[in-house]
Amino acid sequence: TMDYGKAPEDSAIVRDWLKKNEAGFGHFINGRFTAPGETFEVLSPASNEVLGRVTQGSADDVDAAVKAARKAQPGWAALSGHERAKYLYAIARHVQQHSRFLAVLESLDNGKPIRESRDADVPLVARHFYHHAGWAELLEDELPGTAPHGVCGQIIPWNFPLLMLAWKVAPALAAGNTVVLKPAEYTPLTALAFAEIAAEVGLPKGVLNIVTGDGRTGASIVAHEGLDKIAFTGSTEVGRRIRRETAGTGKSLTLELGGKSPFVVFADADLDAAIEGVVDAIWFNAGQVCCAGARVLVAESVAKRFEELLEKRMRQLRVGDPLDKNTDMGAIVHPVQLDRIRGLVAQGVKEGAELVQGDAPEGCFFPPTIAMKVEPASTLATEEIFGPVATVTTFRTPEDAVALANNTRYGLAASIWSENVNLCLDIAAQLKAGVVWINCTNVFDAGAGFGGYRESGFGREGGREGMMAYLTHPKPKAKRPEAAPEAPVGQPGA
Ligand code: NAD
Repeated sequence: TMDYGKAPEDSAIVRDWLKKNEAGFGHFINGRFTAPGETFEVLSPASNEVLGRVTQGSADDVDAAVKAARKAQPGWAALSGHERAKYLYAIARHVQQHSRFLAVLESLDNGKPIRESRDADVPLVARHFYHHAGWAELLEDELPGTAPHGVCGQIIPWNFPLLMLAWKVAPALAAGNTVVLKPAEYTPLTALAFAEIAAEVGLPKGVLNIVTGDGRTGASIVAHEGLDKIAFTGSTEVGRRIRRETAGTGKSLTLELGGKSPFVVFADADLDAAIEGVVDAIWFNAGQVCCAGARVLVAESVAKRFEELLEKRMRQLRVGDPLDKNTDMGAIVHPVQLDRIRGLVAQGVKEGAELVQGDAPEGCFFPPTIAMKVEPASTLATEEIFGPVATVTTFRTPEDAVALANNTRYGLAASIWSENVNLCLDIAAQLKAGVVWINCTNVFDAGAGFGGYRESGFGREGGREGMMAYLTHPKPKAKRPEAAPEAPVGQPGA
């Protein structure tokens, strides 16, 4: 039997579930699982064991899913918001009931520490469905005159497999859309478990369809003429391709792509807090986070002390078995991603970067890494690494800090550390980033919009803006005549 390490009670249920599906998983289409087709292996990156086999979705499979979603859509949209909300509340509650199972499954499949999947990923999944159940209830009052797009194709990455599903599915369903979703090929298992939850709560058939497979399946979704909207999270390269392919088709599109987010530490910052911030910014989920604070920019006057503290803290991180509750950093999602990280870091060293690294076990692991002496135009400073690698660069003045922070093709997130809140607010307004955190980092909530500028994509997820991405824009309401604008202070009135 397989040994699932330090979470034996919970892993027994996961083991049973995997065993039950040993013959391979089919897709979830029209409220039921199809028979497995041509399958591929899903590996646990930490142990390299085979967890199961999933089906490589064909264009016909995608077509069947789109047809089911199309058939279900008018009925789903015709339900009152309150009725749709009942299903979303039920999903949220069932996610909570199965939270330990989902957390173990996620950690096995993705390699992330159980502490993260249990305390961050899965609770946020439930939160997202609760929040959007609320939106379904309030829709007619809060966003009158809006309508769902229809059928949405959703393609998600492997870094937060179930959470990215929740970000996509919850607002889409709340708004009255139906969905065809493809999880990433490295991490499809929690999406399949989620399909069981959807069936368990009696979600009407066809409202949610899950088709597994690699990029070819994703391309079939993008190309399908029966879809009204595509929502994608993943690499900038694939996002660009999707944008080209949907141009002129009338499909609505939102893209959430990469990042290279700055983490700015001013001289008056609480350095201990900022150090914990870096741990969270770049070693959370082994840096496989689109908004990871990968570029640490620190005021020159405190840089030496900061670097010493950071190195000391980094060496305390425990890298290893994702199911061990004491593990700080787990495995890298897949050997292909590990090679990518290694390649970029090797290139950085060639370009003159100096590395400080912690320990990591053999296998699909990469040590927590700090890269110093990184030139602003070099690979490590500009390319998204999507691994546990922080660059450290110093600055002299706030103007320098802003210029360095904005020196990127991306614009997803930023974080600022200073005890002077006026400085923080002043700097925040100058940063080109969709989210700016002050004295914190990687804080997410279903009620706050998230999304990027420039090569980080467009469209927002979460909150009111996120709901709008799943609705057609409201017809302008008949306005009362506006009051004459007040004359600006200090200017003579007209
Ligand atoms: P990717 O963009 O290739 O994959 C993301 C999703 O898109 C997966 O479900 C994949 O199957 C699908 N896909 C791939 N090719 C497609 C196509 N032609 N048409 C439609 N769908 C397609 O990302 P990846 O290869 O898994 O990771 C590569 C890099 O992407 C990472 O190193 C990282 O820089 C970035 N990334 C970003 C995020 C993010 O959250 N923004 C997440 C994962 C990866």
